[in-house]
Amino acid sequence: MNSLLLTGGRVVDPANHLDSVADVLLRDGKVAAVGKNLSAPAGVEKFDVRGKVVSPGLIDLHVHLREPGQTAKENIATGTAAAARGGFTSVVCMPNTSPSIDNAGTVALIQERAKNEGLVNVFITGAISKGIAGEELAPIGGLKKAGIVAITDDGHCVQNNDLMRRACEYAKMFGLPVMDHCQDYSLVTDGVMHEGYWNVALGLRGWPSAGEEMIVARNILLAELTGAKIHCQHLSAAGSVALIREAKKRGVSISGEACPHHFTLTDAAVAGSEKFWSDDGKQLLRGANRPSWPAYDTHFKMNPPLRSARDREAILEGLADGTIEILCSDHAPHCDYEKEVEFDYAPFGITGLETELALSLMQLVHTKRLSLPDMIAKFTVNPARLLNLNKGTLGVGADADVTVFDPEHEWVFEREHSASKSKNNPFFGWTLKGKVLATIVGGRRVFVEQAELAAV
Ligand SMILES: [Zn+2]
Repeated sequence: MNSLLLTGGRVVDPANHLDSVADVLLRDGKVAAVGKNLSAPAGVEKFDVRGKVVSPGLIDLHVHLREPGQTAKENIATGTAAAARGGFTSVVCMPNTSPSIDNAGTVALIQERAKNEGLVNVFITGAISKGIAGEELAPIGGLKKAGIVAITDDGHCVQNNDLMRRACEYAKMFGLPVMDHCQDYSLVTDGVMHEGYWNVALGLRGWPSAGEEMIVARNILLAELTGAKIHCQHLSAAGSVALIREAKKRGVSISGEACPHHFTLTDAAVAGSEKFWSDDGKQLLRGANRPSWPAYDTHFKMNPPLRSARDREAILEGLADGTIEILCSDHAPHCDYEKEVEFDYAPFGITGLETELALSLMQLVHTKRLSLPDMIAKFTVNPARLLNLNKGTLGVGADADVTVFDPEHEWVFEREHSASKSKNNPFFGWTLKGKVLATIVGGRRVFVEQAELAAV
């Protein structure tokens, strides 16, 4: 079967505390050996990856693949193609499809489609509540039996604290983590952007930070009460980071994730590029080109919203000190016609699979806030540990899921290069630093940047 020897790369495998120049031999879909000067058995193809980073295949635990039911936006084939381009060998899909993933049949359907059409591994989350309506628990045991890796009502948030408590108790019983989109509806109402200076200046309704922090605090209390593992999704507010930092010190089973848009952009971006670059964007993209966009551009509308520079700084600090252990995209495809409306009416969300590695390198590693191994851990061993996935390592015998990238390579992200069906991304035209060269899933090359990576 497919064999491949990657020679001379910087192998970074946080699960095994490895960071050194080495060869990696992949054989029969598994990692066969990692070491210096490995000799290739006869007939094995070789890739010279000197000067490049060889990492365990990256995992994105927050992706909307939109199948079933919303395939005008994305489907399993296109979503996993975007993942492969972005360096991701595993994605975890969210249950707010149509119908939602609140029953074993839908889990089976996605498993079948992923097996036939998926370019990368697809792991599935189930809903907390039936129809993601927040009223009645979904059959959590049946969903677990069908193969889900966590429960979440992502896109929505269970408001009834007792229902959430019961969900936590069931999830714990079945060994499932609970992931939560933290949003208090009574505080957020119909807010469309961060409540601060810019929403007032722009005349848009505000989505206050407290609307997130309130639910993060609730989740900390419920994790303590039930002992369930609760994971707070796409953190955006400084107060959320402070709450989780304090709770983790006390040993509470709480964790969090952050998305590149929240630690790169701010709410000033909604006022247009000029305001953003002259205000909060000053330190970004030193010397590089500065793309422009108008005020009220709906590609800067997401949930939770872009927040202030102070919040952005707090997210970066939380990532640097280990409070936030996981990086992900919240890849949320929407059709052009849906986004090409007034800001109030546009759906929340942007695509992110193809830009998240570069943006994370730029904001965390190139700025020296985080070492390269620490950043890679947040894309590999940490999400694997949270979801009990047998992934995220280059240990001998592990699945041959590997990502090869050049952290220094500068490139411009262009709309026509995106493999996603939807093009709702705010970073088109941006010069990004850090490029994926090869994505290998179970020993199969699912994406190779031919110009950069030559077989030898
Ligand atoms: Zn969400």
